[in-house]
Amino acid sequence: MCRHLGWLGAQTSVSSLILDPPFGLRVQSYAPRQQKHGLMNADGWGAGFFDEGVPRRWRSSAPIWGDTSFESVAPALRSHCVVAAVRSATAGMPIDVSATAPFTDGQWLLSHNGIVDRTVLPLTSTAESVCDSAVLAATIFALGPDAVGETIAQIGALDGDARLNILVADGSRMLATTWGDTLSILRRDDGVVLASEPYDDDSAWEDIPDRHLVEVTATDVTLTALD
Ligand code: GLN
Repeated sequence: MCRHLGWLGAQTSVSSLILDPPFGLRVQSYAPRQQKHGLMNADGWGAGFFDEGVPRRWRSSAPIWGDTSFESVAPALRSHCVVAAVRSATAGMPIDVSATAPFTDGQWLLSHNGIVDRTVLPLTSTAESVCDSAVLAATIFALGPDAVGETIAQIGALDGDARLNILVADGSRMLATTWGDTLSILRRDDGVVLASEPYDDDSAWEDIPDRHLVEVTATDVTLTALD
């Protein structure tokens, strides 16, 4: 199970969100604290962020902990909206950049933490990869990320073994689902973090219950039960 993180708020550096925190995604890549499926997340990573409304991505199929070039540049990458992930590939899925989150349709950035049977997904020729998460991303893009809660509940009904934690953002909104794995929220003075697990021991982190949709805007956080 991968680990992901989203940010919506003031402009902040990508490194302050994923590299600098004591238990940020870089540490979660080799020592996650709440991961229930898989031991580590060494099959690649991706950092996506919005730059004047344009989604941009830096992805790799190597472990994030050894990427000294990214470490050097990440403090200079600043954005008000970030979607990042470290990957533990599901058995049988390709390990290459195109299978690595975040995925995009040119407007949204999306990460999937989990597993899904691809045969329950509509055939989507626009998927970036045959990886289950990429096909799921293409399905959500095709149906409209605004409907991600309904889409996940429907797919969850078709595949009872699926784990479907999604994080998707378009620069002004961030939506996330919990369906089979952990998600926490930190409401900071300058914005909101959603993360598979807390990146530090701040007591303000709250757990999101399973089978919920979280919607974050510049002014609100809304929680809705799914199914
Ligand atoms: N199934 C996805 C993959 O293979 C995501 C895996 C995960 O959440 N660990 O990349």
